[in-house]
Amino acid sequence: MCGVFGFMTKDGRGPDLARLKRIAAVTQQRGHHAFGLAWLGGDGRIHTYKRPGPATANLAALDACRGATIVIGHCRWATHGRPEDNRNNHPHPAGRGWFVHNGVVQNHHDLVQKYRLAQRTQCDSEVLGLLMARFPGALGLRAARVAERAEGRLVMLGVWRNPARLLVVRNDNPLSFGETAGGYYFASLPEGLPGCVTEIRDHYAGVLTLGDDGLRHEAFLIAG
Ligand code: GLU
Repeated sequence: MCGVFGFMTKDGRGPDLARLKRIAAVTQQRGHHAFGLAWLGGDGRIHTYKRPGPATANLAALDACRGATIVIGHCRWATHGRPEDNRNNHPHPAGRGWFVHNGVVQNHHDLVQKYRLAQRTQCDSEVLGLLMARFPGALGLRAARVAERAEGRLVMLGVWRNPARLLVVRNDNPLSFGETAGGYYFASLPEGLPGCVTEIRDHYAGVLTLGDDGLRHEAFLIAG
C-alpha cells in the first residue's frame, strides 16, 4: 500500500526540507516502486517530479520545494501499471491540479466505461483525476463525489493554484497531520510528523485555501 505525505504553509513560507525528507523516508516503508512530488512554488506555478525507484534515491528532488507553499508526495506500491513506465507513477493530473492517491480503485474499469474517460495510463488512480475534472462544483465537493463513486479505501492529496489550495481526502485509509508555527505536515504514517499528531477524520474531503488573511478550511462528508 502506497504512502502519501504533504505540506501546507500557514504564512506563505516554505517547508522545513529536512523534516520533509525524514517524512518521505518514513513513508517509503509503504511503497518503494516509485517516488513523486507536486508543489506550488514561490513563482506561483505548480511543478511536478516523478521517477521509478524509492524515495531515498530521490530525496534531493525535495530541495526544489524550498519556498513552496504546498507540497504533495507519493511513495508508490504499484498495483496497476508498471512503475518503469513513468506515466503510471504519481502525481497524476486532475484538470488544472495534480494529486497523489493511496488505495485501489477497484471499479476503475467500470468508471472508465460509464463516464467515457480517456485513460492515458495503466494506473487505476488516473480515473480519479479524470472524474474530478469532469464533475462541476467546488473542489472539495467534486472530490467527495469522486470518492463516493470509487470502490475501495483511499487517501488523496492534491494541489491547485489561484488560489493556492491543498485537497485532503480520507476514506478508510490512514492519514495524520502535525502542526508547526509555519504550517501543517501530512503523512500516511505518523512517525516523523511534528508536534501533537492527529488523525484526519475519516470519510472527509477538505480544502485548505491560502488567502491574504491566512488559511481557510472547507470540509465535505463522503457519503457511505
Ligand atoms: N493503485 C495505485 C497505484 O498502483 C495506488 C497504489 C497503492 O496505494 O497501493 O499506483
